Amino acid sequence: MINLRTQREVSKLKDAAKISAQALQVAGEACRAGVTTWEIDKIVEKFIVSQGAEPSFLNYQGFPASSCISVNDTIIHGIPSKNIILKDGDVVSVDVGAKYNGYHGDNAFTFKVGEVDQNVSQLLETTEKALYCGINQAVVGNRIGDISNAIEKTVDLYGYGIVREFVGHGVGKNLHEEPEIPNFGPAGRGPRLMAGMVIAIEPMINQGDGGIKHCPDGWTIKTADGKPSAHFEHTILITKNEPIILTKL
Ligand code: MG
Repeated sequence: MINLRTQREVSKLKDAAKISAQALQVAGEACRAGVTTWEIDKIVEKFIVSQGAEPSFLNYQGFPASSCISVNDTIIHGIPSKNIILKDGDVVSVDVGAKYNGYHGDNAFTFKVGEVDQNVSQLLETTEKALYCGINQAVVGNRIGDISNAIEKTVDLYGYGIVREFVGHGVGKNLHEEPEIPNFGPAGRGPRLMAGMVIAIEPMINQGDGGIKHCPDGWTIKTADGKPSAHFEHTILITKNEPIILTKL
């Protein structure tokens, strides 16, 4: 079932999304050479708790940290670790959500550490652009497929690989709700978008092809070819007018 949110619920979702966005900003400021992903996670966790919120990801299906921190060829669900030390040239995808007053927010951004290879920078720019192209299609009367197709078309221009096994989703009392929002597929298909829907759009794009590899820890997803990957995500509200990005500060 796709939930349509009341004004009261939207107000709570806005609060949760704002804390999620601030937590992501805090994470970005911490992404510097010499810092471990464990340290970044602790900073994020401390911030979320300081706001009276709970980290949405902590213990989610047993996930052992407050944020997913995925470096270079790790696409998503990287487990923060004292053994992963950031260095110049790394790209770091941080995915974080906060639960506040019973509702979640969810967002992700791929940060650069120092000087990053120009081709990798282009991957990041294109993935973020694809997210915004998807958001622009999130209007009443369109369908989920219009979001998916806009993302796919943006990425295809550069020949990058789209990760197909993981998708965007509705956000509400649960971190992941219906509908699923793939980052590929034909326009004009799927559920119709309606005012009051709150969804997370999150392209995960590889420099190489879309192939993925599951790591033995049961969480970490890497590119099969070892090339870098990028991940950008916003939680948005569909309205009668323009979509509202709830996780934008
Ligand atoms: Mg998400």
